[in-house]
Amino acid sequence: SKSRGKSTYLIYTPSMDIESFKAFELERDLRKAIKQNELSLYFQPIVQLETNQMVRAEALLRWNHPDWKLVSPNEFIPIAEENGFIHNLTDWTLWSVCTTLSRWKEQALPLIPISINVSPKRFLMGDWADAFIRIMEETKVDPALIELEITESVLIQNEEGFQRNIEKLKTLGVKLSLDDFGTGYSSLLYLKKYNVDNVKIDRSFINEQMSKKDCTITKAIIRLTHELGMEVIAEGVETKEQLQLLKKSGCDQVQGYLFSKPLLKEHFEKLLVQPVLT
Ligand code: C2E
Ligand code: CA
Ligand code: CA
Ligand code: CA
Repeated sequence: SKSRGKSTYLIYTPSMDIESFKAFELERDLRKAIKQNELSLYFQPIVQLETNQMVRAEALLRWNHPDWKLVSPNEFIPIAEENGFIHNLTDWTLWSVCTTLSRWKEQALPLIPISINVSPKRFLMGDWADAFIRIMEETKVDPALIELEITESVLIQNEEGFQRNIEKLKTLGVKLSLDDFGTGYSSLLYLKKYNVDNVKIDRSFINEQMSKKDCTITKAIIRLTHELGMEVIAEGVETKEQLQLLKKSGCDQVQGYLFSKPLLKEHFEKLLVQPVLT
């Protein structure tokens, strides 16, 4: 069998089940994944409902592990959050988005804002705003092209630190997006406290068969956020029926398989040139 590095926190024992064994290997290999070029970013278009035009996109992380093949971020992000490597992963993601944006600029491609997911754990480590600013400066990327998607568990942990850092970035033009909206108990408090630019309605409200309750909640979120001067993005839109309903409810933008799955960079670049999706 292959030997793949030594830094481990978990101890492997022969009695482990397959899940734990996988987690063990993923944790062991995560640190090398960056160096060995196993991480990549996919880009999923976000479409303006009025025009069917792609107006921004979300960067989504993928890990192509030599043995476990394509590993979902749902599997390795929690491991990285646990062992502190989320720090490196987040910064790698921002760096990668920024170098991509600056290459597009060199190629004279039309530029749109790209959002990255930032784990709440990243905000607990040091002056992250400075680290982010350094990356944007080195790659000469306009901060207005960067959006940070955060979830509601962020602020419970280090509110003052978060406030200070985010204000620094917002002054430069970085946008703030509240992800998975409606799933946490204090979501409304965040809208009140922070200068959020847009809200992403969680996929769990945009079900296959949107119930009467789902519709009511979705409409209420849209109205509320509009009255607060923010834009609303609906995630996980898969059917024409959902799309119609969101249109009727006044939703601004949608993201989902109906328009496009997350795409490899090469495929995504074609959309930058022809941004209208149907
Ligand atoms: P998320 O931020 O809520 O991202 C949206 C997820 O929904 C993505 O899954 C996307 O592929 C999926 N999706 C988009 N449209 C549809 C649709 O129409 N139907 C369905 N069923 N799914 C759709 P993905 O890429 O597997 O990512 C899962 C989660 O992993 C993300 O949820 C996010 O929380 C996390 N994640 C992904 N990339 C990163 C990253 O770079 N950093 C961090 N910290 N977390 C990440
Ligand atoms: Ca997200
Ligand atoms: Ca989400
Ligand atoms: Ca999510």
